[in-house]
Amino acid sequence: MNTPGEALKKIFGYDSFRHGQEELIEKILSGEDVLGIMPTGAGKSVCYQVPAILSSGIFIVLSPLISLMKDQVDTLRENGVAAEAINSAMEWDDVRDVQRRARNGKISMLYVAPERLEGDGFREFLSSIEISAIVVDEAHCVSQWGHDFRPSYLSIAPMIASLPRRPVVAAFTATATSEVRLDIVRQLGMNSPYVLTTGFDRENLFFQVNHSADKMEFLLDYVKKFPDMSGIVYCSTRKTVETVCEHLLENGIKSVKYHAGLENNERRKNQDDFIYDRATVIVATNAFGMGIDKSNVRYVIHFNMPGSIDSYYQEAGRAGRDGSPADCILLYARSDVATIRFFISQSEDSEIKKANSRKLRDMVDYCNTGNCLRHHILRYFGETVTSGCDACGNCRAVTGRRDITIEAQKILSCVYRIAEKTGGRRYASAMIADVLKGKSTNSSRRVQIITQGLDRVSTWGIMKESKTSEIMDMVDFLVAERFLAADEYGTLSFTERSMPFLKSKMRLMMRDHREPAKAKKTNVRTKEETSVLFEELRALRREIATAENVPPYVVFSDKTLIAMCGEKPSNEREFLSIPGVGEMKLKKYGARFIDAIRKWK
Ligand code: ADP
Repeated sequence: MNTPGEALKKIFGYDSFRHGQEELIEKILSGEDVLGIMPTGAGKSVCYQVPAILSSGIFIVLSPLISLMKDQVDTLRENGVAAEAINSAMEWDDVRDVQRRARNGKISMLYVAPERLEGDGFREFLSSIEISAIVVDEAHCVSQWGHDFRPSYLSIAPMIASLPRRPVVAAFTATATSEVRLDIVRQLGMNSPYVLTTGFDRENLFFQVNHSADKMEFLLDYVKKFPDMSGIVYCSTRKTVETVCEHLLENGIKSVKYHAGLENNERRKNQDDFIYDRATVIVATNAFGMGIDKSNVRYVIHFNMPGSIDSYYQEAGRAGRDGSPADCILLYARSDVATIRFFISQSEDSEIKKANSRKLRDMVDYCNTGNCLRHHILRYFGETVTSGCDACGNCRAVTGRRDITIEAQKILSCVYRIAEKTGGRRYASAMIADVLKGKSTNSSRRVQIITQGLDRVSTWGIMKESKTSEIMDMVDFLVAERFLAADEYGTLSFTERSMPFLKSKMRLMMRDHREPAKAKKTNVRTKEETSVLFEELRALRREIATAENVPPYVVFSDKTLIAMCGEKPSNEREFLSIPGVGEMKLKKYGARFIDAIRKWK
């Protein structure tokens, strides 16, 4: 085994590299520092695991979380790679044993929690072994600009400087912003690294925003359709987590809950039940997920909207890490926007307030745009995109569109007339809706209407027939499409698109949110996944995983099982050609899987 391609095939069972992997591997092998910026699920691990396998010295991998380390080490061992971890949960004897084998050159990859680097003893140990590379996973943790700063990461650079010979430094992150990127290079003391950024797109993810009035009904309907597929349901509060989980359980769904208010033991148990496929759904706050490597999450449903696209993409991105189709569905309700806005308003720092309001605006626009959802996200991350994706709720146009040209004209005129009447005052959508309807149910707005004379503007009552919620939906849509601007308090004003629209004959179509709450056609199931054989193979996988005490996806990913269902390999050679089957796994499990498949031929 001499080339990266051979290692990829033999150890991991993959035929070809994904975008960016080969370059990073070559650079590391040739002794250059690298910084790889790739989204979750893009395949960062392979970029340092392959060179580690091909190098003689040890690769030290610094990784922030024990669960993440354990997963990686389990997976590597399953593939026959000599990988070990040293973390705070280990007995001293075990640590010493790993150190001894590292000194004797018996280990090719050693996963270490950065906290370890703070001890002198450990640094001495590192100086006594032959290190080929230092790999820094989740490298944004070194930056105070990032969202996940960990002080222990600051020990990495001094550690590297203290080594007798400077190894290659390879850093990886999914965080895109350029200030964090620069900070990583500086804080880790990297030597003019080769920087590789792959696009942020995740092709296998299907994005959808659902505006149905009854979120619970939608959720239950959806989850019932995929009774044995792993899914995450994110809620904004502990209380909602409790309610939603309860409701799913009452309806016979194997669900567990996860939030910071639970006892450590219960939290860990619930997480494990989910990871080991004993529970199909985990209902959680955003406390769940960091460092979860479960590759067979088939859907992520947001019961409440998060406060930014950054958070949304990170959480939703936990779906489909194995590359198989997965759904990311957001259940939108305007009340969630108000809650987040309230929390933002509590912040003391006006800069932070402003930044968070802007992020919220982008998130709300995502929920209300009629354009491609994927492109909305990618553009937010600074990628240029042109045509539609054909794999999101909007591009597939699962809901009808209706012409709202007249209504839009009325709304814009109303904003304009009110400003004219009041010498430039601005109001949020609730007031605009009241004026258009010609009545208000809110006493403080009623006072404003009288004192400011809003009941005497020409647009007073011109949308009597419409529901307030409908008018507000249209306002949200107009903001998302930049026909109106909304500031941090939601107050509305004209944009450079407003006047031209009023003056032109342009027609405006909006997605209709008013249909019944039903789960629409999404991505999730392939023909293979619905087959009885798939269920057989999943059961076999679970049996093996239980015996080996590893999560099922460490044995084989869903994607690999699906390929088996499609190809139905009947001998060792055919089995080895399945993506995700390397030589070690062929040897360990080949016979049992081939046997199970033969019965179905
Ligand atoms: P990341 O760390 O970037 O989130 P991972 O390293 O966990 O992503 O990889 C995600 C999934 O993609 C894993 O199941 C991995 O085995 C798979 N994978 C990585 N490289 C390839 C490849 N070249 N071909 C097919 N699958 C791959």
